Amino acid sequence: MSQIPVARPVLDEREVEAVRRVILSGWVTQGPEVAAFEEEFADFVGAAHACAVSNCTTALHLALMAVGVSAGDEVITVSHSFIATANAIRYCGAIPVFVDIERDGFNIDPDLIEAAITPRTKAILCVHQLGMPCDLSRIVEIGSRRSIPVIEDAACATGSEILWKGRWEKIGKPHGDIACFSFHPRKVVTTGDGGMLTTANPDYDRKFRLWRQHSMSVNDTVRHGSKQVIFESYPELGYNYRLTDMQAAVGREQLKRLPEIVARRREIAEQYGRHLSAIAGMRSPVEPHWARSNWQSYCIGLPDRWEQPAFMQAMLDRGVSTRRGIMNSHLEKAYTGTTSHRIASGLVNSVRAQNETVILPLFMQMTDVEILQIVEAIQEGPGFADLATAAVG
Ligand SMILES: *Cc1c(COP(=O)(O)O)cnc(C)c1O
Repeated sequence: MSQIPVARPVLDEREVEAVRRVILSGWVTQGPEVAAFEEEFADFVGAAHACAVSNCTTALHLALMAVGVSAGDEVITVSHSFIATANAIRYCGAIPVFVDIERDGFNIDPDLIEAAITPRTKAILCVHQLGMPCDLSRIVEIGSRRSIPVIEDAACATGSEILWKGRWEKIGKPHGDIACFSFHPRKVVTTGDGGMLTTANPDYDRKFRLWRQHSMSVNDTVRHGSKQVIFESYPELGYNYRLTDMQAAVGREQLKRLPEIVARRREIAEQYGRHLSAIAGMRSPVEPHWARSNWQSYCIGLPDRWEQPAFMQAMLDRGVSTRRGIMNSHLEKAYTGTTSHRIASGLVNSVRAQNETVILPLFMQMTDVEILQIVEAIQEGPGFADLATAAVG
């Protein structure tokens, strides 16, 4: 029996052909393919501007800088996220201020944001965790009332949608000030590594383009096309956060597939939901009526008596790979320093989610037979037997 992985990127000859075309063109980094990818991505999410960068972590760094986050400032976010979310805040010399997630879900609890605001709060960095949109209408309302910019960590949310003033819109329009996406292979579409920033603000977009290329005053495309000698200058500190044209060419192919990928992922999630609702105490993820997830991950809350490691081992023994739920940054050694973060609310739900949840396999190529194999493995798990006995006893 072959092992079912947790995730699998959707890549074939179409991506190979796209990369081949770029390599043979002779222009291999931040050129015409990157420009085309940006335009197509902006169109897809309905954004005025899209700027490609090397990954989502660098996108978050530039987004925070653009809204003016600097040393000693505070940024309100969650501990319960991949560590890159909080790390990007620290790259600015700023302090991540952690609040808890909602009880039923993995996104920031909007009720806790206002109490965490201080005169030093420079931004709210919310996460669309596992592709599920967070409660943007409430978060954006708080941000605009308190004059605090909202940045969306949309690393996992390419292709997710939110009901906004009565209309379904793509995450990344953006609904906050800036949204940041990831194209790591663990996400729904991939360029190997890669990231994108979307915004309606042309000043932010101009800054992203400067900073991603060492703040060089003249970019390569302009210099290359010029009939006159141009000397560039470097007016401020910049970075090398470029995406290559090979990556962008892959991204363009992935974007074409995205609707089909999301549709299949939503079907699989629906099947999981139906099967798992029969298991007492199992907490399947629930989509709020105003959200449509791309189901980047399907993360279940185990019934009370089920042990996370034992359950995961039992699944592995039955040929099914799983992962524990999302981590908490504040529990990592990198976050032990006194200036590494501030905790602004209890983090009970965050810690509970890390210890009691498990991510099941979900990828487009999964067959209905594999879904049943996974569901049966869950039903046979030691936890299930234990629970059944408990119910009888
Ligand atoms: C994957 C991920 C990131 C980091 O993305 P990279 O492209 O790998 O830098 C940031 N935030 C969240 C929530 C993620 O899941």
